[in-house]
Amino acid sequence: MKFSPFSKNLIAVLFLLIVSQSLNAQKQKKYVLDWLSQHEVVEEFGKISDEIWSFAELGLQEFKSSALLINTLEKEGFKVEKGLAGMPTCFVATYGSGKPVIGILAEYDALPMISQNPRTTTKQPLVEGAPGHGCGHNLMGTAASAAAIAAKKAMEKYDIKGTIKVFGSPAEEMLISRPYMVRAGLFDGVDAVINNHTSSDFGARYGVNGNAMYSVIFSFSGKTAHGAGAPWAGRSALDAVEIMNISTNFLREHLFYTHRMHYVIPKGGEAPNVVPDKASVWYFIRNTDDRLEDMYERVLNCAKGAALATGTELSEIKVMTAIHQSHENKALAELMDANIQQIGMPEWTVEEHEFAKALQKELGKKENGMSKEVSKLNAPKSVFTGGGSSDHGDVTLITPTSTIRFPGVVPGAIGHNWSNVACNYGSLAWKGLNAGAKAMATTAIDLLTQPKELQKIRDEFKEYSKEHPYKTFLPKDAVPPLDINEELMKKYIPLLEKNRIEE
Ligand SMILES: [Zn+2]
Repeated sequence: MKFSPFSKNLIAVLFLLIVSQSLNAQKQKKYVLDWLSQHEVVEEFGKISDEIWSFAELGLQEFKSSALLINTLEKEGFKVEKGLAGMPTCFVATYGSGKPVIGILAEYDALPMISQNPRTTTKQPLVEGAPGHGCGHNLMGTAASAAAIAAKKAMEKYDIKGTIKVFGSPAEEMLISRPYMVRAGLFDGVDAVINNHTSSDFGARYGVNGNAMYSVIFSFSGKTAHGAGAPWAGRSALDAVEIMNISTNFLREHLFYTHRMHYVIPKGGEAPNVVPDKASVWYFIRNTDDRLEDMYERVLNCAKGAALATGTELSEIKVMTAIHQSHENKALAELMDANIQQIGMPEWTVEEHEFAKALQKELGKKENGMSKEVSKLNAPKSVFTGGGSSDHGDVTLITPTSTIRFPGVVPGAIGHNWSNVACNYGSLAWKGLNAGAKAMATTAIDLLTQPKELQKIRDEFKEYSKEHPYKTFLPKDAVPPLDINEELMKKYIPLLEKNRIEE
């Protein structure tokens, strides 16, 4: 191919433009890394995270946790819209204007029943039976906010155009907020989204992960009667729950192996001598995107059959959430990975390694201490290994999204367990949070300043969307179950406050 002198010049100019863009990005990224490395900054966000850890607020009850993040972002000049998508604890914090629009996901809810004293290596609840941060969402919401603030500082200093948005997403542990946030249009016009999760390693991820899921409460209504005097006059709603569960347990054998299904019985009557006229069972019904709806129909039939068999009524089918698998963008993960490789693993102190080893010993795991090296970006596994779910799946089908896993959790600590709660507080957790914030902030700078990279990400997404167009699994009338954790939090807030860790 021959180039005219004019096109040669054009190529040279374009080449220089790309080189200067990437040199500028290096300078701007160094600026955010330096800012985040300052001792006061590490400490400021570490304390915010510890505070949210102490609140230990369950899904849709994260009033203090979301307020703390909102205040932090507002103080830095972010404009915050609150109470979005029908959830009082959902928010979007925005800085800047115009394209590109880069989103960062922030979570902050805790899990029930796993309260634990921080930095302990044996099971020691802080408040017996109370909630605890056993998935590190205290660190994630804070790291996302720290990253956005760091990126904003660079935008100001270097006059970087575009918008940065923090998506305050409640109730991730219950997989609730994102399908509603998508339905409310909160992600419209967002060019790319950075997701994050705590981990024992430091790396990025792409490909299809986890399971899609329905979270549904099936309620039955019957008739009360004296359990001994005239049981024939009663119709037991609890019988319906039990028969439904027997049916679904037989159904398991004929479901594809990708499925997961589990339930609890939130209501099953109050006294054995009164035939219960009200009972309900709460199911998580999980499978791949293409198998979920069929599985849900079959579980629904088990509920209908149980009502028929017991002469009760299937009085309510309350779908609280319905979500997709996550489909994460490769080009975005590669961008994240390049930043992670540069940032490297935090340096753990001898005490931190010792803590890790003691915890590993207690859990019967290999006593290797903390992870020392960052992970390589691996291709997704070709066999299905999912099982769990994350509600950011819906976001991945609306706009290109990938996940940064940041360190801080002791390798071998168990998710949704006291051992994880013990890790998510204090210096070790702060270092992980800081590393995560650095990876997110540098990736945000890349996305804001390197249009070619963003275009590559968006092109991949456009191609993928042809095969995977988004359609919500949420029924039209579904609404977030705002009161689901109200009673539990009412019970535990005073006890958690009384037992607060004072540094
Ligand atoms: Zn989580």
